[in-house]
Amino acid sequence: MNIEAIGVVGAGQMGNGIAHVMALAGYEVLLTDVSQQALDDAMEVMRRNMERQVSRDKIAQADMDDALARIGTTLTLTDLGRTDLIIEAATERETVKQAIFEDLMPALKPETILTSNTSSISITRLASRTDRPERFMGFHFMNPVPVMQLVELIRGIATDRATYDACLGVVERLGKTAASAEDFPGFIVNRILMPMINEAVYTLYEGVGNVKSIDQSMKLGANHPMGPLELADFIGLDTCLAIMNVLHDGLADTKYRPCPLLTKYVEAGWLGRKTGRGFYDYRGETPTPTR
Ligand code: NAD
Repeated sequence: MNIEAIGVVGAGQMGNGIAHVMALAGYEVLLTDVSQQALDDAMEVMRRNMERQVSRDKIAQADMDDALARIGTTLTLTDLGRTDLIIEAATERETVKQAIFEDLMPALKPETILTSNTSSISITRLASRTDRPERFMGFHFMNPVPVMQLVELIRGIATDRATYDACLGVVERLGKTAASAEDFPGFIVNRILMPMINEAVYTLYEGVGNVKSIDQSMKLGANHPMGPLELADFIGLDTCLAIMNVLHDGLADTKYRPCPLLTKYVEAGWLGRKTGRGFYDYRGETPTPTR
């Protein structure tokens, strides 16, 4: 399967990162969103992020100019029908993703591969509602996409070998590393990372440590570059809670029970960095613990 043109659905933080790395790797990229503002913002974010890469000598100015010229945008989803590989990175809601695949299907070439960047929705279930479950898989980037080295490749129950190999070839051309994961809740990274974060919140909830001592312990005692609570604030506490609920529901094991304190922070709208407050308060000069 020769992949040259890539369609990206959703121009949010993941979609613009995916378009960015694909264009720098030489692929033609067509990016779509329901919002023109999101498309304009995405082009602006990509330009700024590439400028930073130029200023750090990671890429040349000509690479940036060529890459930006390879990215097209459209509000018409079906324009993506001419691409060889589609990566869906729209809002994490199953009905939204399902509607996107349904609308896309009549416009697709028979050989086009469909993928989703979902963090938590079953790849097998999404695939089963398309006309090509054998050419459907999970293509899970980490945030921020231009920085993070890993891509999880998730095969649904019907995904064929040629589809997997074609996606693996794309990951290699990006200069990233693929980890193959089976289609179970949380895949690999979130299956391990989120229970650790949730346990850190329990440690706080039960008064074993405070925010500072918990983060310091994991940074200095386990050599983690960020403490678990600091990391939770970076990811977004609503996202952490949503993934814990997926693990809890999908694996039906009480060990994945979301910590009530995590739920309380989300109920308060203290979602981490993006709202200015989470386990730390970011509204001053330096982040200060909220507990
Ligand atoms: P986001 O909210 O930043 O962006 C989502 C974009 O999708 C928005 O611009 C929205 O307008 C657009 N959209 C919504 N409905 C659409 C439709 N019908 N057609 C086209 N565009 C549509 O979200 P995000 O953080 O970029 O997450 C996108 C996907 O990536 C989700 O599936 C999420 O689970 C996954 N993901 C997120 C992260 C992360 O850290 N944020 C990491 C890995 C994977």
